[in-house]
Amino acid sequence: MTAERPHRPLPAGTDTEIVIVGGGLSGTLAANVLGRSGYHVTLIDRHQVFPREFRVEKIAGDQIEKLRRIGLLDGLSAAAVAFDEIVNIRKGRLLDRTHARHYGIFYDDLVAAMRAELPDTVRFIAGRVSGLEAGPERQRVSILGHGDVTARLLVLATGMGDILRRDLGIERKFVHQRQSLTFGFNLRPVGASAFRHPALTYYGERVSDGIDYLNLFPAAEVTRANLFVFREHRDPWVKALRDNPRQTLIETLPGLVKAFGDFEVIDRVESWLTDITVAENCVRDGAVLIGDAYQTSCPAAGTGVSRLLTDVERLCTVHVPQWLASPGMAAAKIATFYADPVKQAMDEHGLQLAHFRRSLTIDTDLRWRARRQIHFSRRRIMHEIDNLSPAFAARLRNLRKPAVEPVA
Ligand SMILES: Cc1cc2nc3c(=O)[nH]c(=O)nc-3n(C[C@H](O)[C@H](O)[C@H](O)COP(=O)(O)OP(=O)(O)OC[C@H]3O[C@@H](n4cnc5c(N)ncnc54)[C@H](O)[C@@H]3O)c2cc1C
Repeated sequence: MTAERPHRPLPAGTDTEIVIVGGGLSGTLAANVLGRSGYHVTLIDRHQVFPREFRVEKIAGDQIEKLRRIGLLDGLSAAAVAFDEIVNIRKGRLLDRTHARHYGIFYDDLVAAMRAELPDTVRFIAGRVSGLEAGPERQRVSILGHGDVTARLLVLATGMGDILRRDLGIERKFVHQRQSLTFGFNLRPVGASAFRHPALTYYGERVSDGIDYLNLFPAAEVTRANLFVFREHRDPWVKALRDNPRQTLIETLPGLVKAFGDFEVIDRVESWLTDITVAENCVRDGAVLIGDAYQTSCPAAGTGVSRLLTDVERLCTVHVPQWLASPGMAAAKIATFYADPVKQAMDEHGLQLAHFRRSLTIDTDLRWRARRQIHFSRRRIMHEIDNLSPAFAARLRNLRKPAVEPVA
């Protein structure tokens, strides 16, 4: 976290130093970091309160460390359900156990928790942005019913939506259309007061099912299910899952009830079809894209939040302080963010992991069949060694980390 800076007078002809359009996770985190560093920030989102929408619901691994570094982990931990063990099952058998801190939280609660941390240097406006103008000196954002806001720098954090990006002449490239399907639903135990484990990951049993894994974990008052699938969205199985989720899950993952306990699905099954996209021609005067507005991520790879946290940390602690230290906001300044090696490595990792998870789940050529076998055998063997000698297992793990570290 950068040190607090004293309030400075605003440059003539601007309402704020930085205007952030989009108050989902990326925009809200960026506003927090910049506001806490003493910059005048205006954060605009069309929702006063972020609605219940299906996005990331589990925070773990490097995401926790990055949130700690930007000073926002306490806000998350106060609002989320923490758990420290996940039982991992494949083909009805124990694969291994994951021992690490995780947080289960619905996305609207996560955004609300992060908005609650905003310092008073950040002005929040609830309104729909209808137009953008960006230039080398001054940026203008038009908000329906609120007039205009002018700033030295415009941060676009509008997620996957296309319309505003186009105002700046920025397009997006499809790396993989309809790359994956994600389902979210809530479970309640049947015939018992609780499930056998607080958190469990159940991997797909057959390649033909196209199921990567089912995550079961606590969030708010419920047990939440996130199911990551590589299938066509028009596949009859998808309709069956929506219409009759319990039966479809039991047929597709026959060992699930034995491993976790009998269940019923409460409420509706939410679903999301993901396109993997990357913004093109985005080196422009005055405006910078972060989070999903720049690049989308495969939900099964679990890199969306890692990516946006990298964007926020690099942009707000390295680049913005340099950009604002001298006059102007020409494209040459903006280019340094997109060329940032830490950002580039994270973005590339997200794309690689998206490809890895899909191929590991559904590719049937000899190479991927062998890789799948090795991947899961390695985990099972490491688990056995862990039971016999945790110190030796830790040494082995450090000997050779895979180039692309699987998250699940
Ligand atoms: C189903 C699903 C599951 C996922 N699971 C995981 C996971 O397990 N792990 C992981 O790391 N990542 C996961 N992700 C990815 C992660 O959720 C996203 O990367 C992250 O939420 C992106 O945040 P964002 O702030 O960039 O975009 P968003 O959260 O979409 O925020 C965009 C904001 O912009 C606002 N906005 C848009 N247009 C306008 C306008 N014209 N005027 C005003 N405001 C506007 C919107 O209201 C919104 O608040 C998942 C994604 C999905 C869809």
